[in-house]
Amino acid sequence: MKISKLEQQVKDCQKCELYKSRNNIVLGGGEVKSKIMLVGEAPGAEEDRQGKVFVGASGKLLDKMLSSIGLDRSKVYITNILKCRPPSNRNPRASEKDACIEHLREQYRIIQPKIIVLLGGIACKAILEKDFSLMRSHGEVTERKGTYFIPTFHPSALLRNANLKPLAYQDLKILRDLIAKENIL
Ligand code: URA
Repeated sequence: MKISKLEQQVKDCQKCELYKSRNNIVLGGGEVKSKIMLVGEAPGAEEDRQGKVFVGASGKLLDKMLSSIGLDRSKVYITNILKCRPPSNRNPRASEKDACIEHLREQYRIIQPKIIVLLGGIACKAILEKDFSLMRSHGEVTERKGTYFIPTFHPSALLRNANLKPLAYQDLKILRDLIAKENIL
């Protein structure tokens, strides 16, 4: 499937109630041919307004995080667990994640990433394991069927708690080293 077809499917999606309250879907953005995919939680207010991924305050910090290891968002593909904004930025409900995960699976089939960076507990729990603890296991690389998963903190958590920034930077260096080892980019 092409990403444009998936975008139309997500626009037409009514598998959960969020289509009623969203302004725009946010499918993802960046380089569709990238071997590096970043997965956040769900669009925020600014993303919902613009229909673009990570364009608010946490997106600005995400850009800085990427540039700290010499990466630019034009070189990676960025998406979220949910493609529609939950009202008032509440946490995604289990039913919403279940409804939306097939869109992410299709994105995975299209992008075929070698490395997936999971941003924040919601993404880690949805993809790795239900009781995943970021404080315990951030930066621990898991390999599944040839794809590497790197769990790290969500930029909005770093905006709330600057003490987490050095931990996130450790994880980014792991990402940088894995990119070098796998000869990606
Ligand atoms: N937070 C996310 O998880 N994703 C976005 O796109 C914006 C904020």
